Amino acid sequence: MAIQKGDLLYAGKAKSVFRTDREGIFLVEFRDDITAFDGGKKDVLAKKGSLNARVSAFLFSHLKECGIPTHFIEMIDERSMLVRSLDMIPLEVIVRNVAAGSMVRTYPIAEGTPLNPPVLVMDYKDDSRHDPMLNDDLILALKIVNADELARIKELAHSINRILFQFFESLDITLVDFKIEFGKADGQILLGDEISMDSMRLWDAGTGESLDKDVYRFSKGDVLAVYRRVAERICARE
Ligand code: 5GP
Repeated sequence: MAIQKGDLLYAGKAKSVFRTDREGIFLVEFRDDITAFDGGKKDVLAKKGSLNARVSAFLFSHLKECGIPTHFIEMIDERSMLVRSLDMIPLEVIVRNVAAGSMVRTYPIAEGTPLNPPVLVMDYKDDSRHDPMLNDDLILALKIVNADELARIKELAHSINRILFQFFESLDITLVDFKIEFGKADGQILLGDEISMDSMRLWDAGTGESLDKDVYRFSKGDVLAVYRRVAERICARE
């Protein structure tokens, strides 16, 4: 019997999460909304939701095959995926392979500087506080997670980075940085949320051209055309 979509549980800036008639399973709908600068810039781009859903589903499946626990179950239409319900951890876990974005705005380092080893930072997920950066002591003092969970999150984030970096390298794309979120279910930490062009910074390895939300943030061109191109390049491996 097909799963039934239930009440809206939460509407974020680009995704809505619904209950379903199955215990422990939520439905995530990727909408066509695109926002930047804490919602200061907003638009609706037809088909953007389905492009991000497809890429997220592909990357979750790839990570799962590589042994990473994720919330992803399956796609049920072009913009909706079934996921395991998680208690989300309010951390934005960011891994950087190349200096860009807020890192070059905040610190004395040139855009494009390779970061080896990769730089992992965690921000407190709270738009009203502009997602302030945390450190280990703050994370423990705020009791966001315990020390074992923090170690596991870091280990998973570095493994995810290694897997995704290699995957994108094989497509001649540099995975500059990305943001992921984790949640808990049955005492286990799983990758949740999404991994899409909205949450990664991708540069064409040959030309250095942006293939991600920076095209929208900084009005660098037709963001939908770029998302479509990169989705086709990623999902050609399906
Ligand atoms: P930065 O700190 O340079 O702005 O962002 C680093 C990376 O994390 C970029 O790939 C960016 O897209 C992603 N990122 C940071 N904050 C957010 C956020 O609130 N939402 C999403 N979707 N991605 C984010």
